[in-house]
Amino acid sequence: MPIKVLAKELVSQIAAGEVVERPASVVKELVENSLDAGSSQISIEVKGGGASLIRVTDNGSGIPTVEVALAFRRHATSKIGSISDLNSILSLGFRGEALPSIAAVAQVDIVTSAAGEPAGSYLAIRDGVVTSQASQGRSRGATVTVRNLFRSLPARLKFLKSRSTENSHIANVVSQYALAFPEVKFTLSIDGRTVLRTPGSGHLIDSVLQVHGLEVARNMLEVGGDRQWTGGVAGSSPGVTGMVSSPEVSRSSRRHLSFFVNRRWVSSRMLAWAVEEAYHGLLMTGKHPVAIINLTLPPEEVDINIHPRKSEVKFRDESAVFAAVQKAARQALVKLTPVPKIEAVATAYRETSKRRPPLPVSAVSHPTAQLPLGPETPAASLPVLRVLGQLLASYIIAEGPDGLYLIDQHAAHERILFEKIKKQKLQPEIEVQGLLEPAVFEVSPQQEEVLKAYYEDLAQFGFSIEPFGARTYLVRTVPALLYEKDWQGMVTELLDLPSGDKADFSEKLTVSMACHSAVRAGQKLSGDEMRELLRQLEQVSLPNTCPHGRPTMVHITSEELKREFRRV
Ligand code: ADP
Ligand code: MG
Repeated sequence: MPIKVLAKELVSQIAAGEVVERPASVVKELVENSLDAGSSQISIEVKGGGASLIRVTDNGSGIPTVEVALAFRRHATSKIGSISDLNSILSLGFRGEALPSIAAVAQVDIVTSAAGEPAGSYLAIRDGVVTSQASQGRSRGATVTVRNLFRSLPARLKFLKSRSTENSHIANVVSQYALAFPEVKFTLSIDGRTVLRTPGSGHLIDSVLQVHGLEVARNMLEVGGDRQWTGGVAGSSPGVTGMVSSPEVSRSSRRHLSFFVNRRWVSSRMLAWAVEEAYHGLLMTGKHPVAIINLTLPPEEVDINIHPRKSEVKFRDESAVFAAVQKAARQALVKLTPVPKIEAVATAYRETSKRRPPLPVSAVSHPTAQLPLGPETPAASLPVLRVLGQLLASYIIAEGPDGLYLIDQHAAHERILFEKIKKQKLQPEIEVQGLLEPAVFEVSPQQEEVLKAYYEDLAQFGFSIEPFGARTYLVRTVPALLYEKDWQGMVTELLDLPSGDKADFSEKLTVSMACHSAVRAGQKLSGDEMRELLRQLEQVSLPNTCPHGRPTMVHITSEELKREFRRV
């Protein structure tokens, strides 16, 4: 093909791709615009995973009628005017790319009214071109409606994940901004359900309560107190405020770490590392804290213009930032001062939940099915083993026809349970155990979307979970295998997994159940228990590896022993 300059429309679609990756990017850009406009109330409405509809309504400054069309032109912005402004940006937007990018890949309507104008205006943009403009009344602020995202780009549309995945990304974006701006009232509704509502009280703890739930909110420690960036003092030392969780709460992923630089939500491995360093020795390996860290530093100390989506930043002095964050988090942990007023918040919360209709207390409500022990496929590769003893409370030492076997008790038990659960799932009834008292289980808006998507799978495995107020669920039964085990931890872990397809979830659930119900390393086992474990291991079809793929045993043959002792 000969070289030619691309058509204007094509250029804007290519450029749009950098800003608008998925529905959640649209939500992010629109919410940022509302925040830049000084709104105190922002409501976000989403349908069809954001692909059918995204509507953001605010009560900010609005756009004057003469400027509305201009706002949709590429590189049109009211936020900077010169190169030097680029070094002192405190607004979230500045590239003048969001509205034109969104309008290039979706149908956009805007209704807006600015202070001092007699009437507001309405504008419709189709394929990036203004198709109608009229005068329309509304109170001060703006409402941007985005419909049929990516409809003109079937290839992009195809790359969108399931609705629930897109919803969970959207819920995450809104949750992050709710944490960054506690003084703003946020409402997020997905397919008509309100999934997040913050009071806009200006207290971070209120946002934490709504986003992370009561259990987390109760265990948050204040970071930095009221030490805000005061400017100029001690060179560039950044102000660090926010909250971190006490070691009693932990999560199995880093997704609950939120970072804001001059109130911009950013992702940063360096900052995550700094916070986690503060927990050194306080959390089990594989566990991560919940944290909200607000960094305040002079705009010239940070470059926010390194990424079109503005989600990554570069610090002039990385090590100073690292040290400041780590120190602030550590100080909060060392002091372990609970956040003031949290008891008051918790009481208020309990008062509201009391008003819900009482629920009957349930005992065992599901039949406990005794499964027939049908003929099993005998293991191809595992001979009959004789237990000799236990090593380090973690390994079973056994003798077989050809030498010595060291069996990892946890990995082996995982394999046994994995196959057992798989088999049980094929039965009409799985063994469930009713909880004496139903347990209250809280989820974040993001987790809730995953929970909704996989609700039935969890039920199939024996979890009876029912809605119980705002993002709170009541668990009445759990799989019998997990009774008195850390099933809460297990479910939280699953809800935090990056979502995949359904078959995948079921498999992960099986692996996770096996892992959480298996005997732990470090647990002393009696001779009978070890013999029973080996007997069951002999029955499984893949005895040599655990469901994660690690070996369950090490075999040292008689030949190898002879060689080691120089007998041959
Ligand atoms: P940027 O935010 O980088 O300036 P955008 O394309 O997102 O670029 O928006 C263009 C301009 O439209 C903004 O600079 C602002 O003046 C105006 N604008 C957009 N959304 C709003 C809103 N919700 N309220 C008031 N003004 C808005
Ligand atoms: Mg913007």
